[in-house]
Amino acid sequence: MSFDYDLIVIGAGSGGVRAARMAATYGAKVAVVEEFRVGGTCVIRGCVPKKLYVYASRFRDEFELAESFGWQVDASFDWPTLVAAKEKEITRLENAYATNLAKPGAEIIRDRAVVTGPNSVKLLKGDRELTTKYILVATGATPFIPDVPGRELGISSNEAFDLPELPKSILIEGGGYIAVEFATIFAGLGVDTTLVYRRDRLLRTFDKDMSDGLEFGLKARGIALRYNDGVAGLAKSADGVTVTFKSGDSASYSQVMFATGRTPNTDGLGLETAGVVLDGQKNIVVDAFSKTNVPSVYAVGDVTGRAQLTPVAIREGWYFAETLFNNNPLTVDHSLIPTAVFSEPEIGTVGLTEDEAVAQSGDVDVYLARFRPMANTLSDRQERVVIKLITEKDEGKVLGVHLLGPSSGEMIQMVAIAVGMGATKKDLDRTIALHPSAAEELVTFKSPSYSYRNGTKV
Ligand code: NDP
Repeated sequence: MSFDYDLIVIGAGSGGVRAARMAATYGAKVAVVEEFRVGGTCVIRGCVPKKLYVYASRFRDEFELAESFGWQVDASFDWPTLVAAKEKEITRLENAYATNLAKPGAEIIRDRAVVTGPNSVKLLKGDRELTTKYILVATGATPFIPDVPGRELGISSNEAFDLPELPKSILIEGGGYIAVEFATIFAGLGVDTTLVYRRDRLLRTFDKDMSDGLEFGLKARGIALRYNDGVAGLAKSADGVTVTFKSGDSASYSQVMFATGRTPNTDGLGLETAGVVLDGQKNIVVDAFSKTNVPSVYAVGDVTGRAQLTPVAIREGWYFAETLFNNNPLTVDHSLIPTAVFSEPEIGTVGLTEDEAVAQSGDVDVYLARFRPMANTLSDRQERVVIKLITEKDEGKVLGVHLLGPSSGEMIQMVAIAVGMGATKKDLDRTIALHPSAAEELVTFKSPSYSYRNGTKV
């Protein structure tokens, strides 16, 4: 049977673009259907603009610190300048993505695609049907906003980047990556920032020492934390939004932002028509090769709910193309994914948390260092760097590394190589320290700060 295409990719985000590029490079006839901008969440309204805004917001700390080194800084900030500069950069990246697709011959179709069968896709705007040997769904995820009265008065991270003006005050709901990153961005840019979270520990899936260090850092930057509470409703006020909290309190803010998780973009895609199975959270269910229950339909990235991270989507897209179009079956290892939270202070982590390590093995050594980063020592800033190493007992295998402080994201990427290779505490000890640095702590721990034997702290 002949098809119009070998592969139709729905969604030109990180995973879809990588899969399309690689498949086209291996000689497949490929079309990528995208209804919005090429680049997906990461490039257009996620990682890239977020990191640019993180840089912008960190100058406040830098300017303050500069004074302890003898500088006099008279600084002011202009939001429209940042928004325009960001837009220019993401447009450049968007064009680069489109060029990279075009080079190996992948076609970009600007339309909305709906799956009409295991080997067919309908373009809604163009009102035509295409046939294809394989379909790859890479439609990503979208912000989830709780169903509270007045929810339409709030924004999500999608809108936060392009607000017409910088708000005077903001309430952010959530306790995950996006909530804490945006809280530090807005606070750094001078916005009176409050975070409301339904539990009492931010980043609750991270190692507890990371959550504690983060809480200290957020408070030190003037961010108000409202735990064990949530938004019950929103109403318009004279100069913003009045929030009624679940606790019964109410307060007004210029803006309210929901950072309450992301749901997969599977609605209205026609997946049911093709018989593709979704799980209870509407994620597309796939096997290790990213194949759905329908043999011609695959899915990669956030829409599968495996790990909502760009590098994971890219790897899934690449291995999908290797498997199907280069006769080189590869599966992605979803364990030991390093991750960073670009909050202030920054967090980098790989491997097991202390609780997970103890639950898994019972015999664990924990090495923990807390110290003021050298850059702070000329000021009265009390914030500590936290460096935590979790190993098997008696200088065995490294099970987890958790870092909090400047450049933790950069550090964890490098440590993740050693951890992925199965490094032991002895391997770290053999490495000569680089002085003076924060990372040298990782190779200079003498003895455990504390240990667990048979699951009990000793
Ligand atoms: P997260 O899953 O990290 O956090 C969602 C937060 O929303 C949690 O604190 C959750 O609470 C809370 N929440 C969920 N539902 C409700 C509700 N109905 N009412 C109140 N609170 C609620 O998701 P994010 O949206 O922050 O980010 C999505 C994903 O994107 C992340 O998981 C991450 O994989 C990725 N990401 C990665 C970044 C990076 O690598 N630096 C940056 C940004 C995003 P609870 O804890 O109780 O479940």
